[in-house]
Amino acid sequence: MTEHADLTSVLARAADGGRITPEEALELYRHAPLHALGSAADAARRRRYAGTEDIATYIIERNINYTNSCVTACKFCAFFAAPKSDKVWVRDLDEILRRCAETVELGGTQIMFQGGHHPDFGVEYYEESFGAIKQAFPQLVIHSLGASEVEHMSKISGVSAEEAIRRIHAAGLDSFAGAGAELLPARPRKAIAPLKESGERWLEIMEIAHRIGVESTSTMLMGTGETNAERIEHLRMIRDVQDRTGGFRAFIPYTYQPQNNALKGRTQATDLEYLRLIAVARLFLDNVAHIQGSWLTTGKEIGQLTLHYGADDLGSVMLEENVVSSAGAKHRSNLREIIDMIRGADRIPAQRATTYEHLVVHDDPANDPVDERVVSHFSSTAIEGGTAHPELKLVEAN
Ligand code: SF4
Repeated sequence: MTEHADLTSVLARAADGGRITPEEALELYRHAPLHALGSAADAARRRRYAGTEDIATYIIERNINYTNSCVTACKFCAFFAAPKSDKVWVRDLDEILRRCAETVELGGTQIMFQGGHHPDFGVEYYEESFGAIKQAFPQLVIHSLGASEVEHMSKISGVSAEEAIRRIHAAGLDSFAGAGAELLPARPRKAIAPLKESGERWLEIMEIAHRIGVESTSTMLMGTGETNAERIEHLRMIRDVQDRTGGFRAFIPYTYQPQNNALKGRTQATDLEYLRLIAVARLFLDNVAHIQGSWLTTGKEIGQLTLHYGADDLGSVMLEENVVSSAGAKHRSNLREIIDMIRGADRIPAQRATTYEHLVVHDDPANDPVDERVVSHFSSTAIEGGTAHPELKLVEAN
């Protein structure tokens, strides 16, 4: 059998829902013809969502960045400030609640609480914040943080990761966003985030969370110099945990943004590599329900293409984002545009909940929402002129 025939049979098996090995995934990633790879991934997606396969989803959410103070100093990060730096800021609870109120006003259903590893923020800080948010806005889903924050806060408070998770869950955290996964294999992780917990520890904490009923998404940062084999190894590590827990609702890869950070260089993940990774992820992660394509870091056209390479979700209209925009991501969108993006990719747009239920299916363009206030606001703290968050004041509640 020729090498091409081998790949064809692997693609056919995966498209049909069969499991492929990490070695086969790497072969597909390296050598499968692009269109055949995308077509197999699209077939796997259609098979999985038979009956609703023409729908692609999005969510309206807000990232709320509570502090940029961070002791972990990841080399790829343009967001953080060293704790003693005069660039450190902390948002107080009133401001956080004000931003939550705007999110509700604009139809947002989810907030992503995201920040640095502040040297003083233990479990108590998150209990207080989440408790206050839930009391004021019980309808908002708190989909936030990740294993790195749990590791940090549990050390500050002197408790186990499990106790930290139980306490912040009881205070209001609904779901972990899976932040901090970056690259899970040891070599690239140490190269870009030497002070972060290991990939194994990141997964161990997510496994604890899943076991006690807190689901999450999973992420991957592509393009900082990792090898193809390390990209596939990242997927393998996630799939192995998922076989035990079933707690990862989605996999969300995004590309490195090289501005204003210590790593600099360039994004070493081309658009086609990104599409190939989306497709291989759909085929390899047979136990993860959703694959999200990123328009935020790759642009809207690539975002649209991901919907033909296995992705079923285009992420969010982010009412506020500071982290990847600090590192140079310039793409922004509004509600109308994300609906048009999905429809332009020949899918029916649907607003979803955190748990991926369809809240509104936009099956008739005549009924599309026209709320022009629902716009992504980038208010980067690293880009000159961005520190005052001026755009955040533009949104007035009716
Ligand atoms: S990525 Fe997170 S943990 Fe790393 S330096 Fe930035 S804020 Fe800190």
